[in-house]
Amino acid sequence: GGPMAPDVAALVDRRRRAFGAGSVLFYDEPLRIVGAEGAYIHASDGRAYLDFYNNVPTVGHCHPKVVEAVRAQIGTFNTHSRYLFDVAHDYAEKLLATFPAELSNVVLACTGSESNDLALRLARKVSGGEGIIVSRTAYHGNTATVTEVSPSSYRTGAPPRHVRMVPAPDPALFGNDVAQGFADAVKAEIAALKADGIGFAGLLVDTIFSSDGVYADPPGFLKAAVEVVRAAGGLFIADEVQPGFGRTGEGMWGFSRHGVVPDIVTMGKPMGNGYPIAGLVTRPELLDAFCADFGYFNTFAGSPVACAAGLAVLEAIEEDDLIANAARVGRHLAARLRRLQAHAPITAVRGTGLYLGVEFGTEKGPAPDLAKGLINGLRQRGILIGAAGRYGNVLKIRPPLCVTTAHADALVDTLEELLA
Ligand code: PMP
Repeated sequence: GGPMAPDVAALVDRRRRAFGAGSVLFYDEPLRIVGAEGAYIHASDGRAYLDFYNNVPTVGHCHPKVVEAVRAQIGTFNTHSRYLFDVAHDYAEKLLATFPAELSNVVLACTGSESNDLALRLARKVSGGEGIIVSRTAYHGNTATVTEVSPSSYRTGAPPRHVRMVPAPDPALFGNDVAQGFADAVKAEIAALKADGIGFAGLLVDTIFSSDGVYADPPGFLKAAVEVVRAAGGLFIADEVQPGFGRTGEGMWGFSRHGVVPDIVTMGKPMGNGYPIAGLVTRPELLDAFCADFGYFNTFAGSPVACAAGLAVLEAIEEDDLIANAARVGRHLAARLRRLQAHAPITAVRGTGLYLGVEFGTEKGPAPDLAKGLINGLRQRGILIGAAGRYGNVLKIRPPLCVTTAHADALVDTLEELLA
C-alpha cells in the first residue's frame, strides 16, 4: 500500500498518544471503520471489506433483529440482575435447551475471561485441586488467573507450577491416533502434577483449539482425554467461546462433536453479536457447592439488554438457518482450499464448518512471513483475515455465519491470485 490516508494517519497518531503501549492495531495500514452490514465492514476509504475474521458478529454485522432487540430494551428499562424481568428467563431457558439435560444451570457474565475465571474457581472448589492442564498455545482470557492458563499471552517466562501444558492435538505429532496421543499427554501431565504434590483440578480446552492453529479432527478425539481427566478426579471444562453458537456447522457446540458432556461449558464472543454477554453452564450440584462458600454477582451481567441481545442471536441462528449455512459454505470453502493446497505452499487445511485453518509452510518449516504477507495482501484486495498457531503461520478463517459460497469463492480466488 501507499502512504496512509491523512484521516487514518491522524487517528493513528491520536490513538498512540491516548492509548500508549496497550494499543495494538491490525495491519500496516489500519482500517478506519465507519459502518458494517452482514459480512461487510465499511471503511473511510469508501470500500466495503469482506470480513472473514470476525466471530463476534456471528449472525452478521448490524443484524436488524439484534439491533432492534437492543434498541427496544434499552429504551424500555435496563438494570442489574437482582430484579425479576421476563427476558432473563426467556433467554436462559432457550439457551439451556441447546445443552444436554444435565447442564441445567447458567451463570451469566460479561466476558469470556470472566466465565473462564469462574469456571476455574468452580473446578478448584469441587475437585479440591489447583492444577489445570491446557494446550500449549491456548488463549482463555485476560484476568490474573486466566492469564496463567493462557500460554499464548506469555511474551516471556513459563506458566506457574500449577498450570501444565499439552501439545495441540496435531496429527503431525500424534500420528493417526490423535485421541490416544492426546489422552496420553494429558495423563502424563496429571502424573507430573501429582509428583510435584499439586492436586488436579481439571482440563480446560477450546474444543476447536483455535489459537493452537485449529484442530477439529477426527470428531470424538477428546473423549479419551476426558475419561482420563475424570478417572483422576478432575473436571472437564469446554471453552466454547470460539466454536460455540453453531460455527462448526454440526450443531450449537463444539464439544458435542466429540461425544462428551463437559462438567462446565464457558461461552462468550458470539453470544450477543457484539453486545457484551458471556457465561457458563454447569450441573446444579457444582454451582451449589461453589455457592455454599462464595457469592457471585456481576453488575452488568444478565442485564435485560444483554439478555435481549442474546435471545435475538439465538432466534437469528434458527431463523436464518445459520448452522446449515456454516456447514454448506464451510464444506465448499474447505474443498476449494484443498484444491489450492495441491499447488501452493500449504501444509494443511484443517477445521470444520466456518472455522478453518490454512497452514502455510515448506520443507524448511512453518512460513509465518508468507501468512503475514497474505493477510496484508488480502486487506489491500478488500478481505479481512487473521493468523493463529504456535508460529503464526495458520490463516484463521472464521467469518460471520451468514457468508455465502460467492464470498468463499472471492476469498480463495484472491488467495490464488496472491500466491501466483
Ligand atoms: N476463550 C477463548 C477461546 C477466546 O478466544 C477468548 C477471546 N479471544 C476468550 C476465552 C476470552 O474472551 P473475552 O475476550 O471475552 O474475555
